[in-house]
Amino acid sequence: MMHRTEVLRSIDLEQLDYIQQKIEVVCDDDRQLPVGFAFAGKMFPVNRILCRCKIAEDHSGYGYLVELGDRNVFYLYNQPEDYHGSDLVDPSIWVLCFRVLQDQELMRLFLEDRKMLANIALKRVVDFHGHVCPELALGSKFCEFVQHLLGENILEDNNFSVLAENSTSALDAIQILLGVTIGNQRLMVMDYGKHNYSVYSRNKDKGWIFSMKVMNFGDEEAFYRLEGKIINNNALLEDIVSFQKLIDERVRRIFASSPEELFILEPTQCTQQQPQESTSLYTICAICGQQVLATRCIERRDKILCMPCFQKETPGCIHHGLQ
Ligand SMILES: [Zn+2]
Ligand SMILES: [Zn+2]
Repeated sequence: MMHRTEVLRSIDLEQLDYIQQKIEVVCDDDRQLPVGFAFAGKMFPVNRILCRCKIAEDHSGYGYLVELGDRNVFYLYNQPEDYHGSDLVDPSIWVLCFRVLQDQELMRLFLEDRKMLANIALKRVVDFHGHVCPELALGSKFCEFVQHLLGENILEDNNFSVLAENSTSALDAIQILLGVTIGNQRLMVMDYGKHNYSVYSRNKDKGWIFSMKVMNFGDEEAFYRLEGKIINNNALLEDIVSFQKLIDERVRRIFASSPEELFILEPTQCTQQQPQESTSLYTICAICGQQVLATRCIERRDKILCMPCFQKETPGCIHHGLQ
């Protein structure tokens, strides 16, 4: 399956088979989205819509990047005609514009461009995560520094843990590259939405915190303008492709930077208790009656409560994602 980011890169790189023919399209009644089209005497059902965009700034027509069951991706658009006829006549013309070349149709070099793997020794991470993105790149950079500490024997393999202050794509890089996972309890996540990462030796005598520096990519004006158009459903296909190019450029900049250029690195003390992978102790929530890890309970007026029940019981206590 081609990830949406790969499709957008392919459009930019013109890895396309141009068709440019009028077609018949079947739309679903409610949402006016194409569910299939007839081409060369055959019917092609649409499996998934990857992207919807306007075809021109001052035009009401829309274009769609669609994936079929055989994984081929096509771009088709509709052009509402000047409308004089009766309601029974479909007022629009559909054009099948191009098909995106599949992996096996591309030479290796061009395939690497599409997947953005040319200078990235991170194929395993990208394969696991599904695509390359700036958060994955940032997480990888943090890992690069931890790997340096391991190489210098400043940290010991399997004897350190990580605290991440976000739950973005970066966590996949950390779990794959460092082997610390949520499950083995060597990766803790406190989602403050910040690219801050702490690494501690297991006996807690050493620790470092990486805090991301405020980044200035120099593309902010274009970045936010395009992002705004996409959020407001006003983007043209070329806007969406340009936006992906800016994101890819950011990824390249992050990969080309040293960890020290991206993060402020300071020694830190481990103030919290390190979780141990041990036999778990459960207790029963006094309100919902479900079993809950004892270490995740809250005591309130002599009752033991789970966190969601505690939040419901406590006026004004709102936690994003839990409420
Ligand atoms: Zn990602
Ligand atoms: Zn409860």
